[in-house]
Formats: sequence, structure tokens, C-alpha cells
Amino acid sequence: VDGSGGIAAKTIQALMASERARFIAAHPDAAARAGNGLPGFYQGVPMHWMRDWPMPFPMLVTGAQGATLTDSDGHVLADFCLGDTGSMFGHSPEPVRQALVAQSARGLTYMLPTDDALAVGTLLRDRFALPHWQVATTATDANRFALRVARAVTGRVRILVFNGCYHGTVDETFVRLIDGAPVNRPGLLGQFTDLTQGTRVVEFNDLPGLEAALSDRTVACVITEPVLTNCCMVLPDPGFHEALRRLTRETGTLLLIDETHTISTGPGGYTREYGLEPDMFVLGKPVAGGVAASVWGFTDEVARRLDAVRAVTPPGHSGMGTTLSANALALACMRATLEQVMTDAAYAHMEALAKHLATELSGVIDRLGLPWHVVRVGARVEFICAPGPLRNGTEAEAAHAGPLEQAIHLALLNRGVLIAPFHNMMLVCPATTEEQVDRLITAFSEVAGILAQ
Ligand code: PMP
Repeated sequence: VDGSGGIAAKTIQALMASERARFIAAHPDAAARAGNGLPGFYQGVPMHWMRDWPMPFPMLVTGAQGATLTDSDGHVLADFCLGDTGSMFGHSPEPVRQALVAQSARGLTYMLPTDDALAVGTLLRDRFALPHWQVATTATDANRFALRVARAVTGRVRILVFNGCYHGTVDETFVRLIDGAPVNRPGLLGQFTDLTQGTRVVEFNDLPGLEAALSDRTVACVITEPVLTNCCMVLPDPGFHEALRRLTRETGTLLLIDETHTISTGPGGYTREYGLEPDMFVLGKPVAGGVAASVWGFTDEVARRLDAVRAVTPPGHSGMGTTLSANALALACMRATLEQVMTDAAYAHMEALAKHLATELSGVIDRLGLPWHVVRVGARVEFICAPGPLRNGTEAEAAHAGPLEQAIHLALLNRGVLIAPFHNMMLVCPATTEEQVDRLITAFSEVAGILAQ
């Protein structure tokens, strides 16, 4: 695997050049108003990741509804990025829109609970089978706070991550294995600590490595996604999760499952679908239908141990929480999402269409004889421009084919289909139509055909 996806560099460059020209010609309004960046913003965008899309300059969104996104040049796109999961249940689901409107007349944030909060505690407990919950604003925050609790209750400092993971901008998770050695993740700005002091990193699916890393019983917590979704997607080997649970229990290590992306699996996430038994559970991004909110939950045992630590800790700041966390607007939207949007019926639709999408994309790849493959976790589908399956973060890193992926993304966009930047992820939401999925399959087939020639 050399990161080329089996395609000659000059073929990729030619596709990129023609697709850039096509994009520029088709976006005169965005070119005029944002072609040199949006005025007033550092690097011309309100958030620096917005530069990481493959288009030559940003397109300006004028609206989005369901799985459809429109831009200022009048394009109507089938949106399979869905805000990189923030809008996994569609843009502005009607129950969330109504909750937003209703709450907007009642105040937005007051640091006190509401009727909606009363409902949400029970909804979370019943859906995710953990008795104790807290609400934060981002998945990053939820992970940070949960890790703090893990350290507090175990009295241990270290955490363990799997190579290739991403859990948000959580400092201690920014450790990578490079040539077998743990290092601070390349690219970090302003990093002043050697993160490898507090964090161990092993490869996903490496049970002997995991066992060795936990054996001295100094690790407070293993944090992982059930499936690695933030590198090229890596599925767990059969038996991996059972062994992970056994090894963490044997060594008194807590297990934190981050379902922020894998909630695509089903209404109770991968955890419920596959019977995982985490001590702590995190979900962010779509849990309030696209309004900023996240949740983290834990077991009775963790709660009991937390109570015991608090009883002997001097009063002061816990280091957890942010002012807008659990605000009334977020709780109203979360209630609407849990009660009316994340339904069994919605998931049935997502699962069926995503399965169809994955099967058809695989078929295109096979027909063209490309050395690529397709992976899926529920409504989350990814094509990977390398042979598979991938077994760990190092393989996933090597499988990335940057310039090729960028050219494909731009070519799909020019054919009316938006997929996530950074990786080749496509999400199916409750509002995604068969026509939109067919458009994606047709566009992918055409673009892959050009590349395979
Ligand atoms: N956990 C996982 C698994 C994620 O993929 C992400 C973001 N991609 C996060 C946490 C962080 O989410 P946020 O950026 O909303 O804090």
C-alpha cells in the first residue's frame, strides 16, 4: 500500500485540474464573495477546518433540509456529509425545529433544569442502559470530563488509546504510534507536554499488546470507539470487544466507549447492538439534532466510587463543566431528538439504504478491478482506496490516498453529491432518498471509471 490507490499520479492530477475548473465555472457567486476567503476571518474561514475541503474556495450554504443542501450558486446537493455526523438525523428535523421555536420564547440558558431535563434523564437511562448521566456541550468535553472521573475514581493517572483514534480535541488522546514508538500526534500546535507520559497507545485488535499495556495496573481507563471511524475505518476482529472487556476488568481499568460516530449502528448505538458493557459511555454531535450538546453516562459502581472520592476531596472546582452545558435549548432539542427523531423506523430506513449503497459501491469497485474496498457500520459507509480489511491504525494511515481522495470528493461534488472531507465517509439519514443514493452510486461509478481507464 503506497497511498496512491493504484492510480497514476498524472491521472489524479488531470482529474483534479478539470474538476477545479468545473467547480470555479459553476460557482460565480461564491467566487465573487468568498473566492479570496471570507473577510474578517483568519485564513478566510470562521473555523480553520473549513479550508480542508477539496474545493478551490468555500461554497456558501443558503439552506439545508433533510439530506439536501443548497448553495448560493443555486446548486442542490445530496448531502452525505451531514456536518460530519452533527446532522446525522437530517438537517433541521421537524421535531427539533419545533422544539427550537418553542424554547426560543422561554429563554435559552439559565443554569437550572427544565421539564425537558426531567424527561431526558429517563430517556438516556432507558435507551443506553446506564443509570447516571451528565450533559456537556461537545463530545470533546464529554470525553474530557469522563476521563477526569476515571482518574478520580481509580486513583490512576494514565489512560490508554488505540493508534489512529480521535475523540475530539482531548489533549491526552493525541498520541500516536509511529514506527512502533509512542509520540505526540504530529501537527499539534502549542503543545507543551509530552503526552506519552500519561497515555499509552497500542494498535486496535492487538490483544497481546493491550494485555501487556494494562498489566501493571496503572491505567485508569481505556477510551475507544467500538469501530475506529476517524482513520480509514477499522472493524474489530471477532472476539476483540469481549477480550477488551475481560482485560480491562481483570486489571481494574475502566472502559469508556465513545459512540459519537457509531451511533450510526442503531438506536442504542453499537453498544446495545453488540452487547458491549462499558463503564462509561459518550455521545455527542447528533444527540440534540445538530444543536450543540453531548452526554456522558456511567454505571452505579462508578457513581458509588465517585461519591466516595468526593467525600474526601476538599470543596472547590471539579474541573468539569462549561457554562452553557445542559442549557435549556440543548435539553429541549435533545428531548425532541431522543423521543421523535432517533426512532426504530428512522434507523430501519437508514440501515436499508446504507446497505444498498455499500453493496453497489463494492460492485463498482469489483467491476473496475480497483484495489479498493468498502466498509460500513450501520448508516455510516466508507470507501477506502486501498485493499482491505484494515486491522489497525497503522494500516489505516497507510491506506489514506490524500490527493486521489480529494479529486474524487471534488468530482462527486460537481456531480451533485457532498461527502465528508478528511475521509471518504458517507452517512445516510432518515430523510435520504433512494434517488439521492442512486445519484451517489452513478457519480461514483463515473468518477471511478475515469480513474480506472
Ligand atoms: N469522539 C469521536 C468518536 C469523534 O469522531 C469526534 C469528532 N469527530 C469527537 C469525539 C469530538 O466531537 P466534537 O468535535 O463535536 O467535540
